[in-house]
Amino acid sequence: MILFIHRKDLRTSDLPAFEAIRSSGSRSLHVLILEPFLLRKQRYLEHSGVNFLTQVSRLQQEYGAEGKQLHILYGEPDIIIKRLSETYPIQELMVHADYTPYALQRDMSLRNTSAALGIRFKIYHDSMLCDLEDFMDWCGRREPFKVFTPFYRRWRSYLAERFRPPYSSTLAELSTSTLDERIAEDFKIPEEITLQIEKLAPSGKKIDVKDTLEQFIDLHLRDYHVSRDKYAQEGTSRISRHLNTGTISARTVYTRLADEENGGEEWLRQLAWRDFYLYQARLDSDFFCYEKVYDLSSLGTKYFEAWSSGRTGIPVIDAAMTQLNTTGWMPNRLRMITAMFLTKNLGCPFIYGERYFRLKLSDYDNVLNRGGWLWSSSLGFDASPYFRIMNPVTQSQTHDPSGDYIRTWLPELADLSDKAIHLPRPYAIVDLKQSRALAIEVYKKILNSK
Ligand SMILES: Cc1cc2nc3c(=O)[nH]c(=O)nc-3n(C[C@H](O)[C@H](O)[C@H](O)COP(=O)(O)OP(=O)(O)OC[C@H]3O[C@@H](n4cnc5c(N)ncnc54)[C@H](O)[C@@H]3O)c2cc1C
Repeated sequence: MILFIHRKDLRTSDLPAFEAIRSSGSRSLHVLILEPFLLRKQRYLEHSGVNFLTQVSRLQQEYGAEGKQLHILYGEPDIIIKRLSETYPIQELMVHADYTPYALQRDMSLRNTSAALGIRFKIYHDSMLCDLEDFMDWCGRREPFKVFTPFYRRWRSYLAERFRPPYSSTLAELSTSTLDERIAEDFKIPEEITLQIEKLAPSGKKIDVKDTLEQFIDLHLRDYHVSRDKYAQEGTSRISRHLNTGTISARTVYTRLADEENGGEEWLRQLAWRDFYLYQARLDSDFFCYEKVYDLSSLGTKYFEAWSSGRTGIPVIDAAMTQLNTTGWMPNRLRMITAMFLTKNLGCPFIYGERYFRLKLSDYDNVLNRGGWLWSSSLGFDASPYFRIMNPVTQSQTHDPSGDYIRTWLPELADLSDKAIHLPRPYAIVDLKQSRALAIEVYKKILNSK
């Protein structure tokens, strides 16, 4: 028997592990483990946790609709595997890879536990569009690309030549096993999380993730290169929450785009940024510890609270943080502006903003979030230069001239003129010019502190 554990692959098609299970002809036990560490401090009530549990609930429905079994358990993966192996003749454990420090440690431990139990442990790479090792061999280099554009050019050519199309095995082709009731009872999900999952269960007409993609292609793809930064218009795909929980695979998205004659190059470029960060997470040994590589002690948290609660007195910042806190969404351009404002104008270490977004973004992804925060604070590969600091007022005037976005999220400012609406309020917590000049000095020193 094969034990398969769902993680950031909450779908039932185009899964490398399903392909392997089908070709083995074995029965499989399909489990999703809610790990206490990942749901600590009531994270299941925050936007990021809510999105994850919504997708879990939808996955459970998908299994049910096929008459198949998915078992959702709560506990430490190691302990669960040991317990399952006492009851089932498990020969192999299959998962899809995850590259965060927590996940790598967990998987190392799972590998050791499996070895001790005589179970083969197999990890499939699933999240990137290009197979990292093959890509590096194909490029003929061992050193990672440190700049995005050359990476992107090679990435495009590699995919044109070697793209691996979606896997064809379906859930319907697999024989899934039921779960012993005592095990289900021992690793029962806590009541409050069960209630949350039930509450989030999609009802009525099934919302297909592919509809989100088709709608975007029909309505916005053609103008994406101009509309992506016009954040008041919502011209982006919002596919991130699905890509990050794996409800749709990057392969499926790329295949669909390859058929499209309607432009799409600029959008593919964004998908390449996703791969670029996943690539750095695996090849840049500092990626998850830049805060220890550089001396950030000259920064502080004095203004963090005002920033996170949308009370800085800079309208576009406060509007964006209000949208985030209320809905779990913030458009990319505003993520860049708010992150740069926190780390540069407000002189706060990036890890505070990173942690805040971890809870609040519905499309939260550990690697992409860190990538975005490193970029904004001028750390890591191809980051924003320390002396180029976005001015939130100018950004607001450029990308949303009539101030519609601010009017929506800060209705108390709705009556201001198109000109006045972007300007700092009298109670603004910093002077933009002075704080910019100071940030340039401070970050120059930080970048020399390695
Ligand atoms: C400070 C900061 C934090 C971020 N945190 C996250 C996060 O936790 N999760 C997350 O998915 N993205 C994050 N991003 C990247 C980006 O903001 C989102 O991917 C994008 O806004 C998602 O919207 P969309 O799906 O409509 O994107 P679209 O514009 O439709 O783009 C399609 C896809 O391309 C990828 N993409 C787009 N822009 C970027 C980018 N700048 N970097 C990497 N990949 C990109 C995403 O997978 C996205 O879904 C962050 C960016 C910043 C600056």
